[in-house]
Amino acid sequence: MKKSCLLLLFIPLLFGACTSKKKIVKTISAFDATNQVYTSHADSLSKVLLTTQAAMLTDSLGRPVTSEFVGTVNFNLRKPNYVIIHYTAQDSVPQTLRTFTLARTQVSAHYVVGKDGRVIHMLNDYMRAWHAGISKWGSVTDMNSCSIGIELDNNGYEPFSQQQISSLLLLLAKLKRDYNIPTANFIGHADIAPGRKPDPGIRFPWEQLAKKGFGYYSDMLIVPAPVNFDSATALRLIGYDTSNLPAAISAFKRHFVQREDSPVLTQFDLDVLYNVYKKY
Ligand SMILES: [Zn+2]
Repeated sequence: MKKSCLLLLFIPLLFGACTSKKKIVKTISAFDATNQVYTSHADSLSKVLLTTQAAMLTDSLGRPVTSEFVGTVNFNLRKPNYVIIHYTAQDSVPQTLRTFTLARTQVSAHYVVGKDGRVIHMLNDYMRAWHAGISKWGSVTDMNSCSIGIELDNNGYEPFSQQQISSLLLLLAKLKRDYNIPTANFIGHADIAPGRKPDPGIRFPWEQLAKKGFGYYSDMLIVPAPVNFDSATALRLIGYDTSNLPAAISAFKRHFVQREDSPVLTQFDLDVLYNVYKKY
């Protein structure tokens, strides 16, 4: 092949590389201002960590209790102990990045995973993102304080792409390893906020995650639940807030049965619940 022909072949490649580089630069610079806000906010929070003010206590008569600060030399940072998986319920990653970089929305997550498998890290893992909202799991009522929030780009009505799930699995493996997160503590937003949130929805591949050690799922072979099986107690022991039992049942079915999410337990649902509850 002549040199001129080769050059003609490479021109589109070179042009493509240039435009994608320009696109990346433009994408990053579009967030320059918010990255500056991030840094200054993180800097102000670091000052909280350096505070050496002793706790101010008063007795029942309002008299100050003598207290002082003596710094220990043995400490490190607290670690997240849960991973909460969400879908964005939005139409694109840029839309979600915009939502999470506007102060008025008051919502955020540590990670956003695109349909193409791209992972965007939005908040240091040691910081508290605002993804869980009013929620409860077991006796934990401040899920934001102890969890990592992961948002999957998905409008709620579409399947998850395999590239997206592959990246998610790599991210979960890193988080589990870095923070020693227990297998049971990989759960969905709907699990911790039954009746209020539906995500990551009935299509989310919980079984695929469980096979890799991220959360539990029912076994292939399911033995029937005993006749006196207390389903409400089983749901509570798994972690569900059963103050609204029908909502807890729907959330359980969305995660562990994945056929439909009506607030009624069929015999099959009961058998699955019995199988899952024994893992906790
Ligand atoms: Zn959510």
